[in-house]
Amino acid sequence: MADGFRKSLTGVSVVVAGAGLAGLAAAHDLLAMGAGVTVLDARDRVGGRVLTVRDGFLERQHAEAGGDMIDEDQREIRDLATELGLKLTRILRGGFAYVRQNGANRPRVVQRDAGGGWALLARRLEPVIRLYRLAEQRWDSPIAAQVARRSVAAWLDDTKADEELRATTVGLRGFFLADPDELSLIALVDQFSGDDEVAPGAMYRIEGGNDRLAAALAAPLQNRLHLKAEVVAVSHRGQGVRVSVKNAHALSQIACDYLVMTLPASVLRRIPFTPSLPAQQHEAFARLRYGRATKSLLQFSRRFWRVPGRPRAFGSPLSFGALWEGNEEQRGAGGILALLAGGSASDATQALTAKEGAAGLARALDWLGSKRADLMAWRQVVWEDDPFARGGYAFFDPEFETALRPWLARPCNRIVFAGEHTSLKWQGYMNGAIETGRRAAAEIWATHDSHQSSVGSRQS
Ligand SMILES: Cc1cc2nc3c(=O)[nH]c(=O)nc-3n(C[C@H](O)[C@H](O)[C@H](O)COP(=O)(O)OP(=O)(O)OC[C@H]3O[C@@H](n4cnc5c(N)ncnc54)[C@H](O)[C@@H]3O)c2cc1C
Repeated sequence: MADGFRKSLTGVSVVVAGAGLAGLAAAHDLLAMGAGVTVLDARDRVGGRVLTVRDGFLERQHAEAGGDMIDEDQREIRDLATELGLKLTRILRGGFAYVRQNGANRPRVVQRDAGGGWALLARRLEPVIRLYRLAEQRWDSPIAAQVARRSVAAWLDDTKADEELRATTVGLRGFFLADPDELSLIALVDQFSGDDEVAPGAMYRIEGGNDRLAAALAAPLQNRLHLKAEVVAVSHRGQGVRVSVKNAHALSQIACDYLVMTLPASVLRRIPFTPSLPAQQHEAFARLRYGRATKSLLQFSRRFWRVPGRPRAFGSPLSFGALWEGNEEQRGAGGILALLAGGSASDATQALTAKEGAAGLARALDWLGSKRADLMAWRQVVWEDDPFARGGYAFFDPEFETALRPWLARPCNRIVFAGEHTSLKWQGYMNGAIETGRRAAAEIWATHDSHQSSVGSRQS
């Protein structure tokens, strides 16, 4: 942290709503600045959409039911983990392959490198990307608004895309958590218009589980952290903020100088603010969509998917979604496959497991060799059914008015907003949650500092 921030919030009280990575990162910095911090979370655990599952798996193995992979260029999360003494393990070195259906409707691995499909998509999008770059990627430009009004499905039709390109975009349900007819074209254009490599680079996860990052951030909070404490209303009249909190016993109110609000927009929009948030901000939170996401973790007696020279991760347009080895870095004869079914694949996976259980999912992986192993244990998390997430992460549909996007992150009086949905570069990622949490803490410091300076100059 920059030296200028040190202890400059002494005597200032801040409530942080949400103990996911955004809230915990904000609290970490606010504590270092000397603020009196109170963190509230409705769940009985910290981490939010980072959920490492250990219970039920044999051989002391674990896997991630929420945020899993950390990319090479995600500096905020990598640096913070290192600062907290955690190790990152490189995973899935072979990258992603594709799964496609052959003529007989049998899935098969058709291409060794999923980056090839992404590169093709990026090339096809080039004319639109060019326009978007002319607008310097600003979402308040009429160019962005025009691009965003088209769905990916409409773009595929308009450009007479072939079956392969269509299959690639359906496979992106495992990334955007939305089907081509739900997803705005701007999501794809934005993804491919940066200076970064189109294909994903090296990937990591935290040794011992991603939840160790949340635990390490939460440890210094001690009794400043309140779990099973649900924020139900916010009042921000005058110089302070009052947060109404419901816990098992009662309804109480906490008064503070500032509030860091990190709840997902899907939850936040149900909470009354008095006075109301500005109309555009209210609209931005109200209109943001969250993707359906079912994550299934299947532990098998052996790692049958390992074939020399072949990736251990697969993108697919099929109903089980994307899948990859969920615990490559852990010892044991057995291993865990993680399946992420986004958008309508989430519905299909739930329907399959409701009818046939995990055995149905295992059978759907015949093509990968699942018959050669026994299913030992499994866990499934349906994020759209989680009352404190109401979806996997945010996505932009064609109805979302692009000019509203900056309102997701705009402070309102003494309330600052953070969370993956408020990030521009890393929306949908753990890195985005952390970066925005730290940004929110710095915003409070900046607001308070300028307020102090103006009081000081009036007095002198
Ligand atoms: C299935 C899945 C796969 C993912 N895969 C990846 C991946 O591979 N890589 C990656 O980088 N990211 C991934 N992500 C995204 C990543 O997990 C999130 O972007 C990130 O964890 C969000 O953090 P956050 O702090 O913004 O929100 P959250 O983690 O949701 O934190 C918000 C907190 O607010 C709490 N809360 C909600 N309502 C209330 C209330 N009324 N009162 C008090 N507290 C409340 C919640 O309990 C929660 O703890 C994935 C997410 C999912 C669901």
